[in-house]
Amino acid sequence: MLLLNVEKVLKNTTLSFKRKGIASPGLDAETLLSCYLKTDRPGLYMNFERLITDEELKWFSRWVERRKGGEPVAYIVGRKEFWSLTFEVTSGVLVPRPETEFLVEEVLGLCSDTNDHNMNVLEIGTGSGAISVAIASELEKVRIVATDIVEDVITLARKNAENNGVTGRIDFLRGNLFEPVSGKFDIIIANPPYISEEEFAQLPPEVRDFEPREALLAGSEGTEFHHDLIAEGSRYLKHGGWLLMELGAGQKDAIESMLGKNTAYDSIGFRTDYAGIERIVRARRRLVG
Ligand code: SAM
Ligand code: GLN
Repeated sequence: MLLLNVEKVLKNTTLSFKRKGIASPGLDAETLLSCYLKTDRPGLYMNFERLITDEELKWFSRWVERRKGGEPVAYIVGRKEFWSLTFEVTSGVLVPRPETEFLVEEVLGLCSDTNDHNMNVLEIGTGSGAISVAIASELEKVRIVATDIVEDVITLARKNAENNGVTGRIDFLRGNLFEPVSGKFDIIIANPPYISEEEFAQLPPEVRDFEPREALLAGSEGTEFHHDLIAEGSRYLKHGGWLLMELGAGQKDAIESMLGKNTAYDSIGFRTDYAGIERIVRARRRLVG
């Protein structure tokens, strides 16, 4: 019987991912094996000689096969890091993306600009709860209402709030857009679905075949949700309050025009992500009118 150690399993897995054309073979192999062995990446390197039993290898091989079939690592291990916090993820929610952290930064920036930490924040389409939980982890006094249209998603988001110790700061509600919401907010945030039908067909299979369609698809232009959030959002914003949304590559002009035509908003601005793509839009509810 040939026993393999951590180092060898890591090498073999990386090689098989590379052959399959997976973009980050080494990182994926490390993440899968460290999660499988219930350690972290440094923990793997400190235990290179640890032997992997046949039984362990048999189960780990199933994870490797799933990854080779295109399934995102986060769904296989059941979690993803966002804002240095750990979120449970299932195939029912979008895997939180690093660029979405800009949305969290923007909210924290607005709170420190106004020195108001008692903000009322509304998030539409919370998914794993990543954005709201990250904000709540930073602002002790914040009050957040977070919604999603999918009941199971709300259950998971609630669990993520609990696991990260911010339960009391967020109310989770199920419903379509603003339907479950009442009152007025200082800030409304959303990372809405923003993939057009045409773009959907071109998405990498990892996203297209594994992530939930209701988290991605947004009509023929991909801006259907932005349109509704802009149109209805002003009624739920205090005067001087902010609407912040994530957007997809190439959507800046369409969204700028929607906001420009709507007299409820001013101070429209965009922020680019690490790749130089306009990724976040912000607009202020006019002080009067
Ligand atoms: N906020 C999470 C994040 O940034 O990782 C998830 C964003 S995902 C792109 C969009 C979310 O909006 C999904 O969880 C989806 O279920 C939800 N959603 C889709 N249509 C909706 C609607 N009409 N009303 C409320 N939420 C909706
Ligand atoms: N950022 C996701 C992607 O690249 C899309 C998420 C969304 O539609 N909000 O596929």
